[in-house]
Amino acid sequence: MLQSLLESPGKLELRRTPIPEPGPGELVVRVEIALTCGTDLKTYRRGHPLFPCPTAIGHEFSGIVARAGAGARFKEGDPVAVVPSAPCGKCPSCRRGVENLCDEIHGRTMAWGAFADYVRVPERVARQHVFARPSTLSPRDAAFLEPLSCVVNGVSRLDLVRADSAVVLGAGPIGLLFVALLKKKGVPRVIAVGKKKTRLDAARALGASETVDAEEIAERAAIVERVRSLTSGEGAAAVIECVGRAESWEDAVSMTRKGGEALFYGGCAAGTRVPIDARRVHYEALTLKGAFHFSPRDVREAFDLLRDGALPVGKLVSDELPLTQLHQAIERLEAGECLKLAIRPSPDPT
Ligand SMILES: [Zn+2]
Ligand SMILES: [Zn+2]
Repeated sequence: MLQSLLESPGKLELRRTPIPEPGPGELVVRVEIALTCGTDLKTYRRGHPLFPCPTAIGHEFSGIVARAGAGARFKEGDPVAVVPSAPCGKCPSCRRGVENLCDEIHGRTMAWGAFADYVRVPERVARQHVFARPSTLSPRDAAFLEPLSCVVNGVSRLDLVRADSAVVLGAGPIGLLFVALLKKKGVPRVIAVGKKKTRLDAARALGASETVDAEEIAERAAIVERVRSLTSGEGAAAVIECVGRAESWEDAVSMTRKGGEALFYGGCAAGTRVPIDARRVHYEALTLKGAFHFSPRDVREAFDLLRDGALPVGKLVSDELPLTQLHQAIERLEAGECLKLAIRPSPDPT
């Protein structure tokens, strides 16, 4: 089979490797669609601390079970949607019911390396996080299960009862999924702040009532001011940060109204410090929250949303490319000219 391999940061190769054999309870899935993700681009540029080079890459995918290990829940030929990780169920976080923070969620127990003809799904993931894909759900939309699970987890952290307005900072694929889900959950006004006209157009197509072009306004204080003026001078009930930079975290707090909440989804580099106006946090009773990854209940909700066609996730896919053009796909992501690209493996991998 053909498999992408990141030899070292910036050096991506396509290799011929043997098709994996499933162990007990494991599955080997013939990839139908693998989506590109911001993590792939970061890994391509800098490597990944949990997957040292040389490493396979790609983790958002759907496909058809090609081989099933003894006792696996699925059989050969079953179309499936998969998220690449699953919690251990034993560590302190899992026992407390916050499985998204499982100590052992990453690493060797993951289904990693979806930019390939086949991918091995370890037993823990095969047991908990593989879903039968109905024919009404396309392989492309099913591949959104992982990013949407993260976004479902983020939205579950918000007090939507009081959220009559929400601001999403960052109009990349994750920010846009937040826009779509907040709208779907009934938040009347969702304002998207981001760069590039195509992304802001996508935000409106996914349900944003207003967009703020951060490139055009440029000045940070002016962007905050623009958001406040769109929200009667108060700021929004909920602000979701999906950029992952200190300045953007700071702006998220500035855009949050009295009694409102800021959700920090965008991960910053280790050691990042953010100045927060402590007076406002106290006297204006702000709620500041982090969000990371997903729990099994988030994955189930995300799967139901996709199965029911509740979100137009296809609007986030800019183009479809064969696996042999993965390199061009990465270059296009680097140029920032597209949202997500759908990678299709070789038609005949044998
Ligand atoms: Zn991803
Ligand atoms: Zn655990």
